[in-house]
Amino acid sequence: MTNDDIPNLTAFDDAALDKAFGAVEQQAKSDAAAIDGPQAVEAFRLRWLGRKQGLLKEISTRWLKASPVEARKPVGERFKTLQALVEGLLEQSSVTGPTDAALAAEAIDITLPGTRRLTGAEHPITRTLNEITRVFAALGYSVGVGPEVETDFYNFESMNFPPGHPARDTQDTLVVANQDRRPLRDRLLLRTHTSPVQMRTMESQPPPVRIIIPGKVHRNDAQDATHSPIFHQVEGLCVDSNITFSDLKGTLDHAMKALFGSSVKTRFFPSFFPFTEPSADVQISCIFCGGNGCRKCKNSGWIELLGCGMVDPAVFAFAAQKQPAYDPKKISGFAFGMGAERIAMMKYGISEIGQLYAGDMRFLGQFV
Ligand SMILES: [Zn+2]
Repeated sequence: MTNDDIPNLTAFDDAALDKAFGAVEQQAKSDAAAIDGPQAVEAFRLRWLGRKQGLLKEISTRWLKASPVEARKPVGERFKTLQALVEGLLEQSSVTGPTDAALAAEAIDITLPGTRRLTGAEHPITRTLNEITRVFAALGYSVGVGPEVETDFYNFESMNFPPGHPARDTQDTLVVANQDRRPLRDRLLLRTHTSPVQMRTMESQPPPVRIIIPGKVHRNDAQDATHSPIFHQVEGLCVDSNITFSDLKGTLDHAMKALFGSSVKTRFFPSFFPFTEPSADVQISCIFCGGNGCRKCKNSGWIELLGCGMVDPAVFAFAAQKQPAYDPKKISGFAFGMGAERIAMMKYGISEIGQLYAGDMRFLGQFV
Protein backbone atom coordinates (compact mmCIF):
# COMPACT_ATOMS: atom_id res chain seq x y z
CA MET A 1 0.00 0.00 0.00
CA THR A 2 1.36 3.39 -1.04
CA ASN A 3 -0.05 6.82 -0.53
CA ASP A 4 -1.70 6.57 -3.94
CA ASP A 5 -3.56 3.47 -2.82
CA ILE A 6 -5.46 5.48 -0.24
CA PRO A 7 -8.80 6.03 -1.96
CA ASN A 8 -10.85 9.17 -1.66
CA LEU A 9 -13.95 8.46 0.40
CA THR A 10 -17.27 8.82 -1.39
CA ALA A 11 -19.52 7.72 1.46
CA PHE A 12 -19.23 8.65 5.12
CA ASP A 13 -21.74 6.35 6.78
CA ASP A 14 -20.51 3.98 9.54
CA ALA A 15 -20.38 0.94 7.26
CA ALA A 16 -18.29 2.72 4.64
CA LEU A 17 -15.94 4.19 7.28
CA ASP A 18 -15.52 0.82 9.07
CA LYS A 19 -14.63 -0.81 5.76
CA ALA A 20 -12.11 1.86 4.76
CA PHE A 21 -10.39 2.05 8.17
CA GLY A 22 -10.60 -1.73 8.58
CA ALA A 23 -8.59 -2.25 5.42
CA VAL A 24 -5.91 0.19 6.56
CA GLU A 25 -5.70 -1.37 10.05
CA GLN A 26 -5.30 -4.77 8.47
CA GLN A 27 -2.44 -3.45 6.36
CA ALA A 28 -0.74 -1.94 9.43
CA LYS A 29 -0.95 -5.23 11.31
CA SER A 30 0.52 -7.25 8.46
CA ASP A 31 3.30 -4.70 7.98
CA ALA A 32 4.17 -4.93 11.69
CA ALA A 33 4.18 -8.72 11.59
CA ALA A 34 6.81 -8.68 8.83
CA ILE A 35 9.28 -6.59 10.86
CA ASP A 36 12.51 -8.60 11.21
CA GLY A 37 15.04 -6.25 12.70
CA PRO A 38 15.90 -2.72 13.81
CA GLN A 39 16.04 -1.45 10.21
CA ALA A 40 12.56 -2.75 9.49
CA VAL A 41 11.27 -1.06 12.63
CA GLU A 42 12.54 2.28 11.33
CA ALA A 43 11.09 1.61 7.87
CA PHE A 44 7.72 0.88 9.45
CA ARG A 45 7.86 4.11 11.42
CA LEU A 46 8.64 6.17 8.32
CA ARG A 47 6.03 4.44 6.19
CA TRP A 48 3.23 4.96 8.67
CA LEU A 49 4.17 7.93 10.80
CA GLY A 50 6.48 9.92 8.49
CA ARG A 51 5.57 13.60 8.85
CA LYS A 52 5.45 14.39 5.12
CA GLN A 53 5.00 11.11 3.31
CA GLY A 54 3.52 8.84 5.97
CA LEU A 55 0.33 6.90 5.31
CA LEU A 56 -1.37 8.43 8.36
CA LYS A 57 -0.59 11.89 7.05
CA GLU A 58 -2.16 10.94 3.72
CA ILE A 59 -5.24 9.50 5.42
CA SER A 60 -5.55 12.60 7.52
CA THR A 61 -5.49 14.74 4.37
CA ARG A 62 -7.75 12.61 2.20
CA TRP A 63 -10.25 11.39 4.74
CA LEU A 64 -10.27 13.65 7.76
CA LYS A 65 -9.76 17.07 6.24
CA ALA A 66 -11.88 16.27 3.19
CA SER A 67 -14.83 14.94 5.17
CA PRO A 68 -18.04 16.96 5.37
CA VAL A 69 -18.67 18.69 8.69
CA GLU A 70 -21.24 16.15 9.89
CA ALA A 71 -18.79 13.25 9.32
CA ARG A 72 -15.83 14.92 11.07
CA LYS A 73 -16.53 13.26 14.41
CA PRO A 74 -16.88 9.60 13.30
CA VAL A 75 -13.92 9.96 10.92
CA GLY A 76 -11.85 11.68 13.63
CA GLU A 77 -12.58 8.97 16.20
CA ARG A 78 -11.63 6.21 13.80
CA PHE A 79 -8.51 8.10 12.80
CA LYS A 80 -7.41 8.37 16.46
CA THR A 81 -7.98 4.65 16.92
CA LEU A 82 -5.93 3.90 13.82
CA GLN A 83 -3.15 6.20 15.00
CA ALA A 84 -3.07 4.52 18.43
CA LEU A 85 -2.94 1.12 16.76
CA VAL A 86 0.00 2.07 14.55
CA GLU A 87 1.91 3.59 17.44
CA GLY A 88 1.20 0.52 19.57
CA LEU A 89 2.46 -1.78 16.83
CA LEU A 90 5.61 0.32 16.46
CA GLU A 91 6.33 0.27 20.19
CA GLN A 92 5.78 -3.47 20.35
CA SER A 93 8.16 -4.09 17.45
CA SER A 94 10.85 -1.85 18.94
CA VAL A 95 10.74 -3.71 22.24
CA THR A 96 10.38 -7.25 21.05
CA GLY A 97 12.72 -6.95 18.08
CA PRO A 98 12.55 -9.65 15.44
CA THR A 99 9.33 -11.57 14.99
CA ASP A 100 9.09 -15.28 15.67
CA ALA A 101 9.43 -15.92 11.95
CA ALA A 102 12.64 -13.93 11.75
CA LEU A 103 13.99 -15.69 14.83
CA ALA A 104 13.21 -19.08 13.38
CA ALA A 105 15.27 -18.19 10.31
CA GLU A 106 18.30 -17.52 12.50
CA ALA A 107 17.67 -20.41 14.85
CA ILE A 108 20.61 -21.51 16.98
CA ASP A 109 21.29 -25.13 17.70
CA ILE A 110 21.81 -24.96 21.45
CA THR A 111 23.17 -28.52 21.49
CA LEU A 112 26.31 -27.37 19.62
CA PRO A 113 29.38 -26.86 21.84
CA GLY A 114 30.08 -23.21 22.66
CA THR A 115 33.16 -21.20 21.79
CA ARG A 116 35.89 -22.08 24.29
CA ARG A 117 38.11 -19.25 25.35
CA LEU A 118 41.57 -20.63 25.99
CA THR A 119 43.28 -19.26 29.04
CA GLY A 120 47.04 -18.84 28.87
CA ALA A 121 49.37 -21.40 30.38
CA GLU A 122 53.03 -21.46 31.31
CA HIS A 123 55.40 -22.47 28.54
CA PRO A 124 57.32 -25.64 29.52
CA ILE A 125 60.53 -23.60 29.79
CA THR A 126 58.91 -20.94 31.96
CA ARG A 127 57.39 -23.65 34.10
CA THR A 128 60.77 -25.34 34.53
CA LEU A 129 62.48 -22.05 35.40
CA ASN A 130 59.76 -21.34 37.95
CA GLU A 131 59.96 -24.82 39.48
CA ILE A 132 63.72 -24.54 39.97
CA THR A 133 63.42 -21.00 41.30
CA ARG A 134 60.77 -22.10 43.80
CA VAL A 135 63.00 -24.85 45.20
CA PHE A 136 65.77 -22.35 45.93
CA ALA A 137 63.39 -19.62 47.09
CA ALA A 138 62.32 -22.05 49.78
CA LEU A 139 65.98 -22.22 50.87
CA GLY A 140 66.11 -18.44 51.27
CA TYR A 141 67.47 -17.52 47.85
CA SER A 142 66.19 -14.37 46.16
CA VAL A 143 65.85 -13.97 42.39
CA GLY A 144 68.49 -12.01 40.49
CA VAL A 145 68.11 -10.59 36.98
CA GLY A 146 70.39 -8.67 34.66
CA PRO A 147 70.83 -7.47 31.07
CA GLU A 148 71.04 -9.90 28.13
CA VAL A 149 73.37 -7.49 26.31
CA GLU A 150 76.44 -7.49 28.50
CA THR A 151 79.94 -6.06 28.50
CA ASP A 152 82.93 -8.28 27.92
CA PHE A 153 83.97 -7.45 31.48
CA TYR A 154 80.87 -8.88 33.18
CA ASN A 155 80.41 -11.80 30.81
CA PHE A 156 84.05 -12.92 30.59
CA GLU A 157 86.78 -10.98 32.37
CA SER A 158 85.20 -10.73 35.82
CA MET A 159 84.21 -14.39 35.56
CA ASN A 160 87.90 -15.22 35.24
CA PHE A 161 88.00 -15.66 31.44
CA PRO A 162 90.99 -13.36 30.77
CA PRO A 163 91.43 -11.99 27.23
CA GLY A 164 92.81 -14.74 25.01
CA HIS A 165 91.89 -17.52 27.45
CA PRO A 166 90.90 -20.69 25.54
CA ALA A 167 87.74 -21.08 27.67
CA ARG A 168 86.32 -18.12 25.74
CA ASP A 169 86.24 -20.30 22.63
CA THR A 170 83.70 -22.61 24.24
CA GLN A 171 81.36 -19.66 24.71
CA ASP A 172 81.53 -17.87 21.36
CA THR A 173 78.65 -15.44 20.94
CA LEU A 174 77.28 -12.51 18.94
CA VAL A 175 79.03 -9.19 19.56
CA VAL A 176 77.71 -5.72 18.78
CA ALA A 177 79.41 -4.33 15.65
CA ASN A 178 81.69 -1.26 15.34
CA GLN A 179 83.13 -1.28 18.84
CA ASP A 180 86.79 -1.59 17.83
CA ARG A 181 87.71 1.72 19.43
CA ARG A 182 86.37 0.70 22.82
CA PRO A 183 88.53 -1.12 25.35
CA LEU A 184 87.84 -4.86 25.16
CA ARG A 185 86.24 -4.95 28.61
CA ASP A 186 83.57 -2.39 27.57
CA ARG A 187 82.55 -4.07 24.31
CA LEU A 188 78.96 -5.32 24.21
CA LEU A 189 77.92 -8.86 23.46
CA LEU A 190 74.98 -11.18 24.02
CA ARG A 191 75.65 -12.89 27.34
CA THR A 192 76.71 -16.51 27.12
CA HIS A 193 75.64 -17.38 30.64
CA THR A 194 73.70 -15.77 33.48
CA SER A 195 76.93 -15.50 35.53
CA PRO A 196 77.33 -11.74 34.91
CA VAL A 197 74.37 -11.30 37.26
CA GLN A 198 76.47 -12.94 39.99
CA MET A 199 79.10 -10.22 39.64
CA ARG A 200 76.53 -7.42 39.36
CA THR A 201 74.84 -8.68 42.53
CA MET A 202 78.09 -8.92 44.49
CA GLU A 203 79.07 -5.43 43.36
CA SER A 204 75.78 -4.05 44.64
CA GLN A 205 75.63 -5.74 48.04
CA PRO A 206 78.06 -7.11 50.62
CA PRO A 207 77.90 -10.77 51.69
CA PRO A 208 75.97 -12.82 52.64
CA VAL A 209 74.43 -13.42 49.20
CA ARG A 210 72.02 -16.13 48.15
CA ILE A 211 70.58 -15.62 44.68
CA ILE A 212 69.03 -17.75 41.99
CA ILE A 213 69.31 -16.36 38.45
CA PRO A 214 66.97 -17.63 35.72
CA GLY A 215 67.51 -16.16 32.26
CA LYS A 216 68.09 -16.34 28.54
CA VAL A 217 71.60 -16.82 27.16
CA HIS A 218 73.21 -16.96 23.70
CA ARG A 219 75.99 -19.06 22.22
CA ASN A 220 77.37 -19.83 18.80
CA ASP A 221 76.12 -23.40 18.91
CA ALA A 222 74.77 -25.12 15.80
CA GLN A 223 71.13 -26.08 16.17
CA ASP A 224 70.58 -29.82 16.54
CA ALA A 225 68.18 -32.05 18.46
CA THR A 226 69.55 -30.96 21.83
CA HIS A 227 71.32 -27.63 21.15
CA SER A 228 70.03 -24.17 20.34
CA PRO A 229 71.94 -20.91 19.92
CA ILE A 230 69.52 -19.38 22.42
CA PHE A 231 68.62 -21.22 25.58
CA HIS A 232 67.82 -20.68 29.24
CA GLN A 233 69.91 -21.17 32.33
CA VAL A 234 69.35 -21.12 36.03
CA GLU A 235 72.40 -20.22 38.06
CA GLY A 236 72.80 -19.92 41.77
CA LEU A 237 75.31 -18.19 44.00
CA CYS A 238 75.82 -18.48 47.72
CA VAL A 239 78.47 -16.42 49.51
CA ASP A 240 79.03 -16.18 53.24
CA SER A 241 81.72 -16.89 55.78
CA ASN A 242 82.65 -20.58 56.15
CA ILE A 243 80.75 -21.87 53.10
CA THR A 244 82.26 -25.24 52.20
CA PHE A 245 81.99 -27.83 49.46
CA SER A 246 79.78 -29.82 51.87
CA ASP A 247 77.25 -26.97 51.78
CA LEU A 248 77.33 -27.11 47.99
CA LYS A 249 76.76 -30.87 47.93
CA GLY A 250 74.00 -30.72 50.53
CA THR A 251 72.21 -27.85 48.78
CA LEU A 252 72.27 -29.46 45.32
CA ASP A 253 71.36 -32.90 46.64
CA HIS A 254 68.33 -31.38 48.37
CA ALA A 255 67.39 -29.36 45.26
CA MET A 256 67.55 -32.41 42.97
CA LYS A 257 65.37 -34.41 45.36
CA ALA A 258 62.90 -31.53 45.52
CA LEU A 259 62.80 -31.32 41.72
CA PHE A 260 62.84 -34.98 40.72
CA GLY A 261 61.69 -36.94 43.75
CA SER A 262 63.13 -37.97 47.11
CA SER A 263 64.62 -41.22 45.79
CA VAL A 264 66.99 -39.39 43.42
CA LYS A 265 70.70 -39.70 44.23
CA THR A 266 73.46 -37.30 43.20
CA ARG A 267 77.15 -37.76 42.49
CA PHE A 268 79.92 -35.27 41.77
CA PHE A 269 82.79 -35.52 39.27
CA PRO A 270 85.80 -33.21 38.96
CA SER A 271 85.38 -30.72 36.14
CA PHE A 272 86.62 -27.32 35.00
CA PHE A 273 84.98 -23.91 34.90
CA PRO A 274 87.01 -20.69 34.90
CA PHE A 275 84.94 -19.12 37.68
CA THR A 276 84.98 -21.99 40.19
CA GLU A 277 87.80 -23.89 41.89
CA PRO A 278 87.38 -26.75 42.52
CA SER A 279 84.66 -27.40 39.93
CA ALA A 280 82.36 -30.39 39.53
CA ASP A 281 79.81 -31.89 37.19
CA VAL A 282 76.74 -33.27 38.95
CA GLN A 283 74.90 -36.37 37.87
CA ILE A 284 71.58 -37.60 39.22
CA SER A 285 70.41 -41.19 39.25
CA CYS A 286 68.24 -41.81 36.17
CA ILE A 287 64.68 -40.71 36.92
CA PHE A 288 63.33 -43.11 34.30
CA CYS A 289 64.91 -46.39 35.38
CA GLY A 290 65.85 -45.61 38.96
CA GLY A 291 69.51 -46.22 38.17
CA ASN A 292 69.14 -49.68 36.60
CA GLY A 293 70.09 -48.48 33.11
CA CYS A 294 67.81 -47.60 30.20
CA ARG A 295 67.89 -45.97 26.78
CA LYS A 296 67.48 -42.45 28.22
CA CYS A 297 70.55 -42.74 30.46
CA LYS A 298 72.47 -44.73 27.83
CA ASN A 299 72.40 -47.69 30.23
CA SER A 300 74.62 -45.91 32.71
CA GLY A 301 71.91 -45.33 35.32
CA TRP A 302 73.03 -41.68 35.65
CA ILE A 303 72.15 -38.42 33.91
CA GLU A 304 74.50 -35.43 33.86
CA LEU A 305 72.54 -32.36 34.83
CA LEU A 306 74.54 -29.42 36.12
CA GLY A 307 77.88 -27.81 36.76
CA CYS A 308 79.04 -26.31 40.03
CA GLY A 309 82.00 -25.44 42.19
CA MET A 310 83.48 -23.21 44.84
CA VAL A 311 83.72 -19.60 43.67
CA ASP A 312 87.26 -18.91 42.40
CA PRO A 313 89.13 -16.38 44.60
CA ALA A 314 89.92 -14.45 41.40
CA VAL A 315 86.16 -13.80 40.94
CA PHE A 316 85.90 -12.51 44.51
CA ALA A 317 88.88 -10.24 43.79
CA PHE A 318 86.91 -8.60 40.96
CA ALA A 319 83.90 -8.14 43.26
CA ALA A 320 86.16 -6.71 45.97
CA GLN A 321 87.10 -3.83 43.65
CA LYS A 322 83.67 -2.38 44.45
CA GLN A 323 82.72 -4.24 47.64
CA PRO A 324 85.82 -4.80 49.79
CA ALA A 325 83.88 -7.27 51.96
CA TYR A 326 84.42 -9.89 49.24
CA ASP A 327 87.88 -10.60 50.57
CA PRO A 328 88.67 -14.14 49.42
CA LYS A 329 90.60 -14.69 52.67
CA LYS A 330 87.51 -14.01 54.78
CA ILE A 331 84.57 -15.31 52.77
CA SER A 332 83.83 -18.26 50.53
CA GLY A 333 80.96 -19.40 48.38
CA PHE A 334 79.67 -21.77 45.77
CA ALA A 335 77.96 -21.38 42.40
CA PHE A 336 76.06 -23.75 40.18
CA GLY A 337 74.24 -23.65 36.87
CA MET A 338 71.91 -25.78 34.81
CA GLY A 339 70.14 -25.59 31.45
CA ALA A 340 66.38 -25.19 31.68
CA GLU A 341 65.73 -26.77 28.25
CA ARG A 342 67.63 -29.92 29.16
CA ILE A 343 65.62 -30.34 32.35
CA ALA A 344 62.31 -29.53 30.62
CA MET A 345 63.07 -32.02 27.84
CA MET A 346 63.90 -34.70 30.36
CA LYS A 347 60.89 -34.05 32.60
CA TYR A 348 58.35 -33.84 29.78
CA GLY A 349 59.89 -36.39 27.40
CA ILE A 350 60.66 -33.89 24.62
CA SER A 351 63.13 -35.19 22.04
CA GLU A 352 63.66 -32.09 19.84
CA ILE A 353 64.74 -28.84 21.49
CA GLY A 354 63.35 -26.88 18.51
CA GLN A 355 59.81 -27.85 19.46
CA LEU A 356 60.13 -25.63 22.52
CA TYR A 357 60.55 -22.53 20.32
CA ALA A 358 58.35 -23.37 17.31
CA GLY A 359 55.19 -21.89 18.85
CA ASP A 360 53.13 -24.84 17.61
CA MET A 361 49.99 -24.86 19.74
CA ARG A 362 49.41 -28.56 19.08
CA PHE A 363 52.70 -29.22 20.84
CA LEU A 364 52.41 -26.60 23.59
CA GLY A 365 48.80 -27.54 24.31
CA GLN A 366 50.01 -30.84 25.75
CA PHE A 367 51.54 -29.04 28.71
CA VAL A 368 48.50 -27.00 29.74
ZN1 LIG B 1 67.83 -44.80 32.89
